[in-house]
Amino acid sequence: MKLKIKDSIESQREHLIKLSLNIHDNPELGFKEEKASTWLTSYLEDNGFYVERGVAGLTTAFRATYGQGSPRIVFLAEYDALPKIGHGCGQNIIAASAVGAGVASKYIIDQLGGSVVVLGTPAEEGFGGKIDMVKAGTFKEINVAMMVHPNVLNMVTMQALACSPLEVEFFGQAAHAAAQPDRGINALDAMILAFTSINSLRQHIKAEARIHGIITDGGEAPNIVPAHSAATLFIRALNNDYLDELKDKVLNCFTGASIASGARLEYHWGEKTYSPMKNNMTLAGLFKQNLESLGRHVEAFDPRFGLGSTDMGNVSQVVPSIHPTIAIAPFKVLIHTPEFAAAAASQAGQQGIMDAAKAMAMTMVDILQPGMLDKIKQEFNSG
Ligand SMILES: [Zn+2]
Ligand SMILES: [Zn+2]
Repeated sequence: MKLKIKDSIESQREHLIKLSLNIHDNPELGFKEEKASTWLTSYLEDNGFYVERGVAGLTTAFRATYGQGSPRIVFLAEYDALPKIGHGCGQNIIAASAVGAGVASKYIIDQLGGSVVVLGTPAEEGFGGKIDMVKAGTFKEINVAMMVHPNVLNMVTMQALACSPLEVEFFGQAAHAAAQPDRGINALDAMILAFTSINSLRQHIKAEARIHGIITDGGEAPNIVPAHSAATLFIRALNNDYLDELKDKVLNCFTGASIASGARLEYHWGEKTYSPMKNNMTLAGLFKQNLESLGRHVEAFDPRFGLGSTDMGNVSQVVPSIHPTIAIAPFKVLIHTPEFAAAAASQAGQQGIMDAAKAMAMTMVDILQPGMLDKIKQEFNSG
């Protein structure tokens, strides 16, 4: 069965590469991926999938289904680009490999039953499209979710940080900064105090945690005491418990600065909290064997690679999931750069699509062997 799958993906090579390069050459920002969504759904429809568009109320999201009922295995496609650098994250490779795996899996469904879904998940970068989809119940009745992200190493597990955005504002009192400074309340000073407190706090937080932000309003003119200041921050931690602890500590920095300066504090936490990645090790083990059988060397998760956040973390909390990465560039190339965007359109990038699609569809064969889904589910429920 795995040989058939590899053949199917080889026979799609030209189409998959064309899809990938079209998306790459027409970068679209999150929630605006109309072309990518159209190209991907057309290809899936042409290959016998039933396509629903606008899933979870998101215009560019889609669900393409082949077969019926359970088990229901999902391949996730991302296709949003970054401002200015285009596909510096290589989502075009994620999209092409997901549809390739989906189409190849038709053969498995015909033999073994169940259904395969290619889910188009928009706006991974910054807007957390999958968080909306999880909230809308898109992942109910799904047994396993998989996607492969391009990278500089082949890895089958990944760590992602829980992340919470914070918006803060200080309201002070404007006054002439030279003539009547005693009548003013300085909202910018309040913000600077808070940032300084956070810098002190940073010495005493866990190594993987991150607090970073920008000041988006720091006043109007040097001769006016700033009556208003504003900032946006991200607070990140390895798990939700420590994230909650850290959120309280960060908030204390702002409250303290409010008391010290006399400026009134207003804040709100962003609606979209990114969850940490819960790797299903049973699934990861199956994927690893398949990826190695294609001649790729798989590395253990490498902390030098650094930690970010992904909305796949939220999916992994509700469905047994993996988010492996496939090497398409040398280790020195940094992700989210023009160099990585170039790699996403290179020969190595194209081989990445083929191998990722093959390994995902081959893993689906393993998942549908007797007893395997129970094992995957058992692991999911126990941790
Ligand atoms: Zn990215
Ligand atoms: Zn990405």
